[in-house]
Amino acid sequence: MDGMLATSVTLPNHGPTPPDGIAADLPGRDGASRPLPRTARQQTLRQSISCVGTGLHTGRRIALALHPAPEHTGIVFRRTDMDGRAIPARFDHVADTRLSTVIADPHDPALRVATIEHLMSALSADGIDNAYVDVDGPEVPVFDGSAADFVFLLDCAGHVEQTAPRTVIEILRPVRVADGDAFAELRPGREAGLSMTMTIDFSASAIGAQTFAMRFDRQVFRRDIANCRTFTLRQEIEALHAAGLARGGSLDNAIVVDGDTVLNPCGLRRPDEFVRHKMIDAVGDLYLAGGVLTGVFAGHKSGHALNNRLLRTLFADRGAWRVRGRSPQAQALRVAA
Ligand SMILES: [Zn+2]
Repeated sequence: MDGMLATSVTLPNHGPTPPDGIAADLPGRDGASRPLPRTARQQTLRQSISCVGTGLHTGRRIALALHPAPEHTGIVFRRTDMDGRAIPARFDHVADTRLSTVIADPHDPALRVATIEHLMSALSADGIDNAYVDVDGPEVPVFDGSAADFVFLLDCAGHVEQTAPRTVIEILRPVRVADGDAFAELRPGREAGLSMTMTIDFSASAIGAQTFAMRFDRQVFRRDIANCRTFTLRQEIEALHAAGLARGGSLDNAIVVDGDTVLNPCGLRRPDEFVRHKMIDAVGDLYLAGGVLTGVFAGHKSGHALNNRLLRTLFADRGAWRVRGRSPQAQALRVAA
């Protein structure tokens, strides 16, 4: 971590595990009658946690604080340098996907937060439904380019269970988006939860073709992908720097590849670190659904743009999903559809 934790580091208990969860049995518009899986309760943070790190694109020092939030809040980013104005972390607030996932206020593009995806992935894996995320600049600190430091922060903050059931979004029929030979799709699953597969294929031989599949849960996320770093090609860095972007980028917060060579002195954390990082991105981007997806995700060369198009296409097809729960998030999805 290139930042400093501002609180003492005490690894807490994770609070009570939901004993059985609670049944949530509200069907969507389709009124489907098949039995619904039991649903866990919403969670928020036990306490606030704050730190400071570097923004990848501005190169600025950014203060980040995570705070508990009431049930039904969702994940809400707030710009403390802009009077605390808020941007809910939802797919329909995504304003840019070229270098990272950026959310913005639809009525004020200057009210934006970039590089939210790795934090969102850690929140998703830990089952945090409700949190305020305060930043004093236009992006989330990048730390080492993976989700590991966000996992650490969430461990420091701890979890607490709330009363209301989680908002669960079930995929009812396949939805697919494509761009050339790249694609992303969601389809119904045989069991509750989210199964995910990602494949990539780069001409740079240090990356090449890689596949990673997982049944998404907290333990698998932490064990198998959380510390896998973002990556870039050397020629892309030169173009970004020439355009005044990625000012905070360095070998400390990204893997840099030049053909068959990894330029980072310590090499890779795993031989297939690249595709595992793409999985982190997909987990974080899909959490912008505003609830827990249950189904099967498959991505091929899929990045932030396709991941977001996938959610927009899903929610535009009212027969492709149903949402359970009476939360404002669930109601908003029904109304927007
Ligand atoms: Zn990433």
